[in-house]
Amino acid sequence: MTLGSDVSGMTATAASAAAKGLSIVVPVYNEAAGLDGLHQRICDLAKTLRQRYRLACEVVYVDDGSADATLSIARSLPADAVDVQVVSLSRNFGKEAALMAGLDHARLGAVMFMDGDGQHPPDLVEQLVRHWIDDGYDVVYTAKAHRDNEPFLRRVAVHGFYALINWGARQKIPEDAGDFRLLSPRAVAALRQLPERNRFFKGLASWIGFRQIRVDYEPAPRTHGVTTFSAARLLGLSIEGVTSFSVAPLRFASLLGVILAGGAFLFGLSILWEVWTTGKQVPGYPSLVIGLMTIGGVQLIMIGIVGEYIGKILSELKARPIYFVAEHSEKRFETDKADD
Ligand code: UDP
Ligand code: MG
Repeated sequence: MTLGSDVSGMTATAASAAAKGLSIVVPVYNEAAGLDGLHQRICDLAKTLRQRYRLACEVVYVDDGSADATLSIARSLPADAVDVQVVSLSRNFGKEAALMAGLDHARLGAVMFMDGDGQHPPDLVEQLVRHWIDDGYDVVYTAKAHRDNEPFLRRVAVHGFYALINWGARQKIPEDAGDFRLLSPRAVAALRQLPERNRFFKGLASWIGFRQIRVDYEPAPRTHGVTTFSAARLLGLSIEGVTSFSVAPLRFASLLGVILAGGAFLFGLSILWEVWTTGKQVPGYPSLVIGLMTIGGVQLIMIGIVGEYIGKILSELKARPIYFVAEHSEKRFETDKADD
């Protein structure tokens, strides 16, 4: 692996890009209504990339146990300018697992993650590809340009989440970064080497390092349907993300313990001082109850936090596969037709 930071390195990157290609991984869960339209846009994009960068493209649709016609529609999509793989999981495993399945099946070197609901505009892909091929970046990630249209509480929660997960971290996860990202072949190889089962792609893609660049974009509205990520599910994902990625909550627990113990010690000293100087009996009942309740509550929360980590250790230890593939089909695009 070369660093690719000097001119010759970049030429090498461009050359290998031309020799290989780009796998677009699209997780789809009940996206039947918009899939045809999305595929059409991806095919148009693939034609452009083939002409301008001599880049071969493949699209990997990962059907995450959809209950509607998503799978049959995906199977019927034509290999027009792209190779099409359809990987159908045995049930709904969640988006992170679907992305992992896509990553495992991607064959063409570089990988691009894109949502199946039309919110990640294929038109932006060319810009991301340019950063990879022309500028030699390894991780080209996109971030929401702004969150003006989101409720205030949600913005506060998101900010708190990133503050917590990045607390004390050497490699910070960029705030607002989404799953819409392009990974160069060596970044893909690095991601594939990570052995953990609890995956949080935004975090991992940042953690691997290499040359990274941010591209701001405005997410399009969903072409159909509604989001599957409710507030409760987002909270679950946040706990998942933080516990599988950082030990900040544990450190926070220790710190809080030190602060509380210190406070209690000072409080004890002040009582001693009062008794000593005034000779009065200090009425103890309310302060006792408050002290007990504070310590009791804090301890329960901290046991809960430790429990989250123990749960994580258990699931890593069980070492179960992240997903099962029920069906896999593929269609190859005949390259000779393209060269006519
Ligand atoms: N998705 C998935 N499995 C799930 C939930 C969602 O593969 O269990 C896919 C979904 O089809 C879409 C992407 O993940 O392509 C993002 O989902 P969604 O649009 O609901 O999330 P949001 O854009 O609101 O974050
Ligand atoms: Mg969406």
